[in-house]
Amino acid sequence: MAILVFADTKNGKGTKSGFEAVSYAVKANQGEVHVVCADRIDGDGGFGNYGATKVYNAASVSHSDSQQLTAMVAAAADKAGANLIVLSHDATGKLVGPRVAIRMKAGMVAGATGLPQTGSGFTVRKSVFSGKASANIEVTTEKKVVSIVPNSFGLHASGGSASVEAIEVSAPSKVKVREFKPTATDGSIPLPEADLVVSAGRGLKGPEHWGIIEELAKELGAATACSRPVSDIGWRPHHEHVGQTGIAIRPNLYIAVGISGAIQHLAGVNQSKVIVVVNKDPEAPFFKAADYGIVGDAFEVVPKLIEAAKAFKAH
Ligand code: FAD
Repeated sequence: MAILVFADTKNGKGTKSGFEAVSYAVKANQGEVHVVCADRIDGDGGFGNYGATKVYNAASVSHSDSQQLTAMVAAAADKAGANLIVLSHDATGKLVGPRVAIRMKAGMVAGATGLPQTGSGFTVRKSVFSGKASANIEVTTEKKVVSIVPNSFGLHASGGSASVEAIEVSAPSKVKVREFKPTATDGSIPLPEADLVVSAGRGLKGPEHWGIIEELAKELGAATACSRPVSDIGWRPHHEHVGQTGIAIRPNLYIAVGISGAIQHLAGVNQSKVIVVVNKDPEAPFFKAADYGIVGDAFEVVPKLIEAAKAFKAH
């Protein structure tokens, strides 16, 4: 029996979240790991390096058509004889995972944070109530779909290469993607995949002050994020909004500047491994969730952090 991983690709290679899903599937230890991906890939797309032994590539399917992606995953699952489908709980995975589960009559755990426990039954841990609790979910169907939270498991390269089989997907598409325009054209890191994130809130006073946040992010090699009011007022694009109603992220380092730490904001960032808070109000609730706190004015503290990052890199 094989595990089938649906992985996103970009520029002919797997994305970080795709490689992470392959790493997870290898650790799940439920059989050989096969991958299915859309768009043309170079070689094995890099998936063999993470332990996949076979890649099904449907070059004619676009990664932005979730209906065709669903048909593609179902076709590859049949070919691989896979009862377990693993994918990332990223933007594409959230569209494709539930559709695949319905089509395959599979039980699904969406947003897993643990490996499957198979001692008795098939149980997977996920975080619930905005990270305040975790639940062990048992899947009782023969076929199972598990989507994993990006950055929960990391990448585990093992070397190796995978064989590649081209597949055709004949399912007619009910929608047509007329145009695909990336919002971030500058090569910046996609927020859900970022290891380091610099985020700012209303404490920054206005969009004209975001230069220091962008500069700090650039020096650290981090992605930028923001609180909801900031994107609601239009100071920053909506795709940067993190929290209960925005993206939930799990970076290694989350630096929050001028953000109060409302519960709805924390819901999307409290799984970060290290949280640093910069706020001029020592009573700001965010300090309770912080690993490191700096009480001070953002306009004084952030330039010092930029200088420190530059000095560190110069050594
Ligand atoms: P504020 O609450 O105004 O806080 C600004 C902070 O900046 C303050 O702590 C202040 O002390 C500090 N500050 C001011 N000046 C400086 C300075 N010069 N230097 C340093 N610090 C300074 N919010 C989200 O972020 N994400 C969500 O997904 C989300 N979902 C929501 C869903 C619902 C249903 C509701 C009701 C609300 C939601 N909110 C969400 C809004 C949330 O409740 C807060 O209102 C919001 O997070 C506050 O944003 P903020 O911290 O940027 O602004």
